Amino acid sequence: MVVYSGKSVFGGIAIGHISLYKKDQQQVKRNKIEDAEAEIARYHAAKEEAISQLQALYEKAVKEVGEASAEIFEAHQMMLDDEDYIDSVENIINTQMVNAEFAVAQTGDNFAEMFANMDDEYFRGRAADIKDVSERLITVLSGGGAAEIASDEAVIIVADDLAPSETVQLDKDKILSFVTVHGSANSHTAILAKTMSIPAMIGTDIPLDDEIDGKLAIVDGFEGKVYVDPDEDVLEDKTKLLNEENEKKALLEQLKGKENITLDGQKINIYANIGNTKDLALVLKNDAGGIGLFRSEFIYLGSEDYPTEEEQFSIYKTVAETMAGKKVIIRTLDIGADKQADYFKLPAEENPALGLRAIRICLTRPEVFRAQLRAILRASAYGKISIMFPMIISVDEVIEIKKIVEGIKAELDGEGFAYDKNIELGIMIETPASVIIAEDLAKEVDFFSIGTNDLTQYTLAIDRQNQSLDRFYDPHHPAILKMLKMVVDAAHKYGKWAGICGELGADLTLTKEFLAMGFDELSVSPGRVLPIRKIVLETDVKEYKGQK
Ligand code: PEP
Ligand code: MG
Repeated sequence: MVVYSGKSVFGGIAIGHISLYKKDQQQVKRNKIEDAEAEIARYHAAKEEAISQLQALYEKAVKEVGEASAEIFEAHQMMLDDEDYIDSVENIINTQMVNAEFAVAQTGDNFAEMFANMDDEYFRGRAADIKDVSERLITVLSGGGAAEIASDEAVIIVADDLAPSETVQLDKDKILSFVTVHGSANSHTAILAKTMSIPAMIGTDIPLDDEIDGKLAIVDGFEGKVYVDPDEDVLEDKTKLLNEENEKKALLEQLKGKENITLDGQKINIYANIGNTKDLALVLKNDAGGIGLFRSEFIYLGSEDYPTEEEQFSIYKTVAETMAGKKVIIRTLDIGADKQADYFKLPAEENPALGLRAIRICLTRPEVFRAQLRAILRASAYGKISIMFPMIISVDEVIEIKKIVEGIKAELDGEGFAYDKNIELGIMIETPASVIIAEDLAKEVDFFSIGTNDLTQYTLAIDRQNQSLDRFYDPHHPAILKMLKMVVDAAHKYGKWAGICGELGADLTLTKEFLAMGFDELSVSPGRVLPIRKIVLETDVKEYKGQK
């Protein structure tokens, strides 16, 4: 047995034979041509064919892994239509009087190198995409096909690296796992592997020798190890682990598509929390009924400067469209305290958790708030978006916010932008003040979502960031549970709905209690949706209340 290590990008166990994946290494020859115009025409025809192949791949990926992950193939189509790229290919053909294959290979190498030398990690990662599209073009030009798995049984793919288009093209039923020597954790291949829920490893120190091809192996994505020719006892242990995993998965699979309804007929919405569009595939895969918390500040944290209205609009639109009519609750910027972005130039504070954060920043920097609200409202024309405001402490704040929203709606009307005129406006309940005045707040908003992370911090006066206080930070504290009930009752008294989007919402030991309290929604990390559904389906709320 030989054990290799790598970086796991998706957990799980795979046991099977290795299939060494070798790219059809395209030996591009430099041939002299006579007619540059005809060669350029041949290049354009190949480009159109490559674009239509990518469109087909895009449609396949949308079905298999969701729109967000499929976007890479749209990006590839755009790369092929990039003017600089086209100019470069045509220029090489014209000036050097060489074949299109060579001109494309040369352009691909030049552009990939340019990207590889950029400072920005994201752009560096795009070098692989440029190579990928260039290789596709060369394959079309030389009339070749894509590499395929030469096996009928499902295998563990071992490769140097895999381009996203290769990953999607491979027949999923024949793949147990991906193991690559190169590749980054942020690469689209890693993302695709995750969305396909296949154990996958990158940066693995496995040799790409023909000798390894066909050998029995175990990929343990939990510990980031590949066992080639495993010993008996290892094989036995891992087979047991694999069976347990499969049982768990099968159980949860059965719950997909089911309504979240208790034995005695009480319904609850189970939504997912996300931080960016990359999480969308998981939301769909885990069958969440919507997005209960989109932490929009991650857009700001991932930027060097204030994200523009257009940039934000495009992100919110993608989320709304991908969720295809399911509810998407976008929380406005909650920056400050532990989430800092330099360009905000927030003053140093003695007590940042009690300082200038979240809605307080938005109300003191109206231009920042306006750009975000305009972007969200415009995106609301493309799906079912609700807006949620964090860290609310007073009715006055809510009234001020609503005025700003009304002003922006009038502005958009004047500019002819479409938006959802009845967009739901809700608030997070995460300060003790908002709990105490919940009834007054309920009159002003459409819904409440309780941020138990901050509510616990502010109620127990314990910094949620301070690890050394973990033993005192108790979200099950009776004060918190009592507050939750007060908030649901206040919402219902005024015909509004209430949910939980803090971590406590995902606490399976409290799911029955939340149902008994009457919560309308729980928003949790995508992987928690089905385990909660399981409990909901097994609960008789009346019986549970009787036992208490
Ligand atoms: C919360 O406070 O519970 C919450 C959901 O918001 P965040 O964790 O982003 O502060
Ligand atoms: Mg919070």
